[in-house]
Amino acid sequence: MISRVTGAVNPRLTSLPWPGPRYCRRVSSPKSTSGGTRERARATQRARKSGALSSARTSGGKARTSGRASAADAHSSARAGRIGVHSSERTGTRTRSNATSAGRTGVRPRAKSENASSRASRAIEIERRLTSAIPEARCELDHDDAWQLLVATILSAQSTDRTVNRVTPQLFARYPTAAALAAAPQSEIEALIKATGFFRNKAKAIRAASQLLADRYAGVVPRTLEALIELPGVARKTANVVLGTAYRIASGMTVDTHAGRVARRLQLTQHDDPVHVERDLCALFAVSSWIDMGHRFVLHGRYVCLARKPRCSECPLAEVCPASESAAPSGTWTERAERERGRVEARGEAPSTD
Ligand code: SF4
Repeated sequence: MISRVTGAVNPRLTSLPWPGPRYCRRVSSPKSTSGGTRERARATQRARKSGALSSARTSGGKARTSGRASAADAHSSARAGRIGVHSSERTGTRTRSNATSAGRTGVRPRAKSENASSRASRAIEIERRLTSAIPEARCELDHDDAWQLLVATILSAQSTDRTVNRVTPQLFARYPTAAALAAAPQSEIEALIKATGFFRNKAKAIRAASQLLADRYAGVVPRTLEALIELPGVARKTANVVLGTAYRIASGMTVDTHAGRVARRLQLTQHDDPVHVERDLCALFAVSSWIDMGHRFVLHGRYVCLARKPRCSECPLAEVCPASESAAPSGTWTERAERERGRVEARGEAPSTD
């Protein structure tokens, strides 16, 4: 109720039962910009009343300076408003608090806020360029049918498609159906898939999934996400891969480690959790694009937007990517798209130009 600066009673607060901690923090906080401006103005008033002209001039000078600063703040606030950046972002306050929350929630701070329509426009351009770079969007796991793809996708966890493609020919030659794999001895499956890592758990999962498929669906992979995620070892990513690739059913977008990384670098999402990343991507792209764009993000992450050393100077998305590390990408984006096409078709064997 009584100002610590002037000792005066604030009439607006006398009618309230409790001024509230927020107000108190603003008045008493020495770091508060508005509190500091108010304090300087009051000091100027006191100086004028006491006739300390020189002091008042000095304070007036400061007041003028702070007036200019306020105008600059107002200008940058207006600019920040146009580009959607909160003024506290410029002071680092928001970045720090977001960094803290990122640790807790997996949500990353945006370097610069972007409004929804600008992000949607960028998503259209990203789709155009990625479609040019990867016209034949595909899953790189070799398979003949939905069941083989399901097994291969379970095996691909924490492994590479290349390794999985090395072991699955022997596995499917030996156990060509879900019923055959379900009846196979655990130790034999483990020996066949050992190279993919976590082979004991994977062997259990593919056997149990095959058993359930054989018992409940006569060995045929169901066509709904709900039915698929009930199978052992099958989560949303595997279900999306199988439904999209084997049946061309757009149940969502495939988000693996590559797709998630690319989406975050392109600032199409702020999340680490694949389910949240998928939700953000699905909101940006048409349902008819979900399957192919999912594959494109995976392939782009695998061959160009590498985890440790992204090939930004060779990336056709460099101009529309906020995380691009290349000030001068090589050639036009169509030339870079063509080079990416060669690299993807050769499964990464194309000579690198960077
Ligand atoms: S510009 Fe760089 S960071 Fe952005 S998508 Fe391309 S490779 Fe990845």
